[in-house]
Amino acid sequence: MTTAIVFCESYFLHEQAPTHPERRERLQYTWDQLLEEGLLRDPRIRLVHPYPAPPEAVGAVHEGSYLDFLERASLKGGVIDGDTNVPPGLLHRALLAAGGAMAAADEVLAGSVTNAFAMVRPPGHHAGIRGGGGFCYLNNVAIMTRYLQRKGMERVLILDWDAHHGNGTEEIFYQDPSVLFISIHQSPLYPGTGHLSSMGTGAGKGYTVNLPVPPGSSDEVYYYLMESVIVPLAHRFHPDVIAVSAGQDNHFTDPLTSLALTASGYAGLMARAVALAGDLCGGRLIAVLEGGYSVEAALPYTNLGMIAAMAGMDFSGIREPAAYLWMYEEASDPGALQEVRQKVAVLKEQLHSKWGAF
Ligand SMILES: [Zn+2]
Repeated sequence: MTTAIVFCESYFLHEQAPTHPERRERLQYTWDQLLEEGLLRDPRIRLVHPYPAPPEAVGAVHEGSYLDFLERASLKGGVIDGDTNVPPGLLHRALLAAGGAMAAADEVLAGSVTNAFAMVRPPGHHAGIRGGGGFCYLNNVAIMTRYLQRKGMERVLILDWDAHHGNGTEEIFYQDPSVLFISIHQSPLYPGTGHLSSMGTGAGKGYTVNLPVPPGSSDEVYYYLMESVIVPLAHRFHPDVIAVSAGQDNHFTDPLTSLALTASGYAGLMARAVALAGDLCGGRLIAVLEGGYSVEAALPYTNLGMIAAMAGMDFSGIREPAAYLWMYEEASDPGALQEVRQKVAVLKEQLHSKWGAF
């Protein structure tokens, strides 16, 4: 397998404030780690530069009045919510993130690589049709999804495993049966949406699947959800391509959340998604970076693990530095799996009329 990594140093430029969790070091530490590991010299990896998303691609997802607001606010600065301000120059940087996801799609569509990882910021999955929020301005994965559909990929599975619910992505596709949106997220947690009972509406009913998990959920919970829900539903939906909203704030050291995924768990999860894409859609999979705020203890290793899994490399040796491992015992809760099993039983009943028994 070959994997494209979409990245450029312009992704370091966006900054709300030096102390804001969504800050440039998120990618700086990862980039340094990838260089140190020599990953970019590996023949299975191809580095791709992004381009700014063109207006028609962004306009396919967001309302014009919101884009006008972003353009005006980008001149002198503005505010969206308590966590999300608009620094001067924001719009161009957000367009470069959305275009990064499109550049990743281009490589996969052209067949120059098997799969691709858009290592972009700012993130996107909280941005909805009419507004941003939660550190997000433009919905990168949604803009890419509409672009893929224009290029002939009619059915897109979006797998969002960021620790927060992808409320923006859910809103954009809530009535749309061409997109199966599956989100695993911590509950309770910002933004407070993503209930088990929210399943889409109209023609889209059954095409939104929310999997809220309790604090303390670890690798085994994610593997269980992959095997018991995601794989069987994906086989029924039969996507032309899989998009992954690859947030990394589920890591046991993340300062904003209370989950307990490990770097090895991220690699294992991605390996399962890659295998699913191999079974269903010629391996076509595009991951787009979302959140993840543990800049030293997690991101360099979770990103490395995911890229290794995407490129078919051995990832068995990838783990966090030993100095952080004590935090795992405090973060993980072995009882989480049982709670999730009970929720899945309810979910299967809810979805039975749409997808049958699975
Ligand atoms: Zn998040």
